[in-house]
Amino acid sequence: MSADVRVRFAPSPTGPLHIGGVRTALFNYLFAKKHNGTFILRIEDTDQNRFVEGAEDYIIESLNWCNIPFDEGPGKDGGHGPYRQSDRKDRYKKYALQLIDSGAAYYAFDTAEELAEARTKTEAQKLTFIYNHHNRLDFTNSLTLTESEVKERLDRGDEYTIRFKPQPKTLFMFDEIRKGIEIDTTLIDDKVLFKSDEMPTYHLANIVDDHEMEISHVIRGEEWLPSMALHVLLYESFGWEAPKFAHLPLILKPGGKGKLSKRDGDKLGFPVFPLEWNPENGEKSSGYREDGYLPEAVINMLAFLGWNPGTEQEIFSLDELVQAFSLEHVNSSGAKFDFDKTKWFQQQWFVEQDDAVVGDAFAKALQRENIEYKSQDYVNIVVGLVKERAVFVEDLFELAGFFFTAPTEFDDKAAGKSWKADTSEIMNNVITVLKNTTDDSAVALSDAVKGWVKEQEIGFGKVMMPLRLSLVGSLMGPDVFEIASLIGKQETIARIETAMEKLG
Ligand code: GLU
Repeated sequence: MSADVRVRFAPSPTGPLHIGGVRTALFNYLFAKKHNGTFILRIEDTDQNRFVEGAEDYIIESLNWCNIPFDEGPGKDGGHGPYRQSDRKDRYKKYALQLIDSGAAYYAFDTAEELAEARTKTEAQKLTFIYNHHNRLDFTNSLTLTESEVKERLDRGDEYTIRFKPQPKTLFMFDEIRKGIEIDTTLIDDKVLFKSDEMPTYHLANIVDDHEMEISHVIRGEEWLPSMALHVLLYESFGWEAPKFAHLPLILKPGGKGKLSKRDGDKLGFPVFPLEWNPENGEKSSGYREDGYLPEAVINMLAFLGWNPGTEQEIFSLDELVQAFSLEHVNSSGAKFDFDKTKWFQQQWFVEQDDAVVGDAFAKALQRENIEYKSQDYVNIVVGLVKERAVFVEDLFELAGFFFTAPTEFDDKAAGKSWKADTSEIMNNVITVLKNTTDDSAVALSDAVKGWVKEQEIGFGKVMMPLRLSLVGSLMGPDVFEIASLIGKQETIARIETAMEKLG
């Protein structure tokens, strides 16, 4: 890529960031890093009615949690700021006026009531109301009023909008994902660009900012594809070079019908937000972070929503994604969200982690539950023994709880299967064998017990199963001598005695 790659993620702070938004941010990030470019965060908050307190912080925290921080944005000036549209308010009017001067836009003075009336009339004829070339001369605007009438209205402080007037033609556009697109511009409406409250609309602010921020590629969701023609025409009207466009496929509900919406999450039983959203007066929504997911898993899952590497490889670290990513491998058709696949990614990433990292998280969880543990090392070793079967840190309580607390109950089915009439006597002998070993290592304990079993010719199952049941409370868990060695001989013997009392 020749010119500098500068891409932006431009969310509106209207609530928590949907994972679809995180996917857009991720693809922008990957594209930027792949081309040694710059990833910019721009907050599009021109619509003050939809502004939600805390949403901007949430967006930034989400990007940070996903390890895809922005290079330029609020609080990180890269010479193209400010990065919040509300802080750029004063810049837009001159551009709107520039379009008026060149004849690409005009003042419209129609009141909301007049427009509503026109709309009702059109809809009564079963037609869709659209304000453009076919009826713009029926309205009150600078195309129908004289220059002095317009001036009078403006001087008087009448409310107005500035509307864009698309040139009638066939417009050829190129989308990096969807390729060539042809549009008849007479189908486009005369979009409002600016209002007399001195605020630009999304379209004007978005184009002006992309231009001023020297954005090279606009990578955004498919829902913005219908706006592309207008945006391209605006660039043409300003005489600016347009950035390249890439519209990412929709993320669909698991069933494939319709877009995955913000409301789908807790309704369908999985989070649709990266982080929990818990507004003071509003509904709480669950998030991947709080549900125990690793950012690596979430990123990996999101990357595959619309992109594929063109190979069989599925597990990608962020660095690997940066290397492998290209817009050529982004599909144009919608990507079905698959929650089971998300869990699968989580599991893959969970086992990849260092025992010490998981151990640290598990130790914190143990503290939270007031469960004592010998040392951090002990927790790490335990983690190493059971990690493979876990998907979340929380799973470790069930998989490894017996390393910390002696079982108080014994699984009925397991007891029925393993504790027979002669078991207590056998276990009594096992206690003696254990007492006689001089060292607590798993190997020493195993050699001693197995040696004795062989000598007595009683069959391994008759000893191993009740031994495991005594230590664990069920028949699951890693190697029984690893367990015995870790909890220690003393504790092992105590647990066997308890089992004998309860089951004998
Ligand atoms: N503010 C728009 C949004 O919330 C940005 C669209 C774009 O990237 O141009 O998605």
